[in-house]
Amino acid sequence: MRLFSLLCFCPPTLADCAEQPTLTDCAEQPTLTDCAEQPTLADCAEQPTLADCAEQPTLTDCAERLVTAEVKATGWFGRLCYSLKKFVKERTGEDETQNKRLVYTVLGLPNLRNMCYMNATLQSLFSLQDFMEDVRREESSRLMKCVAELHAARRCGSSNKKTDLLKTLKKSVSENCRDFCGHEQQDAHEFLNVLMSQMKEEGSILSTADGLHPYTCPVEANFEFDLLSCRTCLSCGETVHKMESYNSLSVDLVSGGSVEDSLALYFMDYEVECQCSVCFAQLAIVEQKLQSLPRVLVLQLKRFTFNSKLTLVKLQDTLEIPPVLSLQDHSDATATYGDCHEPSSSKGDAVPTAAGKKQSSVKCGAEDRVEQYSCTVNQPAGRHEYRLTSVLSHIGASVRHGHYISECADRDGNWLLFDDETVKQTDLESVLCQRASCAYLLFYEYR
Ligand SMILES: [Zn+2]
Repeated sequence: MRLFSLLCFCPPTLADCAEQPTLTDCAEQPTLTDCAEQPTLADCAEQPTLADCAEQPTLTDCAERLVTAEVKATGWFGRLCYSLKKFVKERTGEDETQNKRLVYTVLGLPNLRNMCYMNATLQSLFSLQDFMEDVRREESSRLMKCVAELHAARRCGSSNKKTDLLKTLKKSVSENCRDFCGHEQQDAHEFLNVLMSQMKEEGSILSTADGLHPYTCPVEANFEFDLLSCRTCLSCGETVHKMESYNSLSVDLVSGGSVEDSLALYFMDYEVECQCSVCFAQLAIVEQKLQSLPRVLVLQLKRFTFNSKLTLVKLQDTLEIPPVLSLQDHSDATATYGDCHEPSSSKGDAVPTAAGKKQSSVKCGAEDRVEQYSCTVNQPAGRHEYRLTSVLSHIGASVRHGHYISECADRDGNWLLFDDETVKQTDLESVLCQRASCAYLLFYEYR
């Protein structure tokens, strides 16, 4: 399992960090002037509220209080207030832009030693508003409660609280997956899979504990989709169907190509050697189509391969990342967004369901809300377009170590770069350009 992963190590060495932003890159970071165009508190529901930031009064706040005092006061005290206000403003140069910068800089997560894989994955998940709303509803789940609390703590800026919650989350995940016990380098996709699997497992126990509890599994409602494989005998035409559920797709890189090319390669028909149950011929062709579509499509770009010496090496091929991705060509003609939330009985009996397929009792809660959500979807029927909302990148030339960062957009298209505790403003163009050769996980949301 470890063989096919991109590990992280913090801090990375100079040699590994060939792709780290240079000073020149940093010159393009937002200036104070740029920050004047930052979203306001009201613009961004995800941003911390004024109450969240109350723990961090700025010198500007003091200046404002002095203004109030100055208005109320007269005589020498009024003059004193005026002088103090002038002094504070001149000394700090602090203004509204500084406060606005605070709004997003508090969103970082501390790195508790080699934990950038976890921080970057969490930041990508936190950017998925519908998913986080679903997680917040399930307070009875220990794991989901911890994720929700971390999401909330992220905004208050208290490093100690974030550290405690990160430790709790890591411990909780490690209890069922010993790989994450220590402080070794880990693969972000592996962590995401383990986290999703444990959330789902914990949820299914809760849903069966009380038959009346309208449980919604956030993982199923947001990430799961069904893939239908049709294997047709090349001799007699006998066809066998197989349906399986997935949380993400792992696609191969197409050198000099795009994410669309990688998807096309994944869904390309292929021949297999397999004995036909009717005519006993040995050759069949397999065709794959998406039978249902997820709210969030997660793509893992397989940036690893074996070289001639059978050593696992990292692929740093440049890949064009489209801001909008259509799944029209890879979906069954009858597939619609939200299909995966219909009761399984609605699917034809002729199609066998995969082992461990979702139970209808688990799905009931999700169904109503997804239908509600679907009403907001506005795109031509069958296009099945997804908008890029997060890019998780592995920085470094080796599969053995490197550094993970995440870049995420809000629904207004404002992008932030999350590098552990450091949070910077960025934009879509920079993300697509700078991460073309190091993007590892892509998160696309149904438009
Ligand atoms: Zn046959």
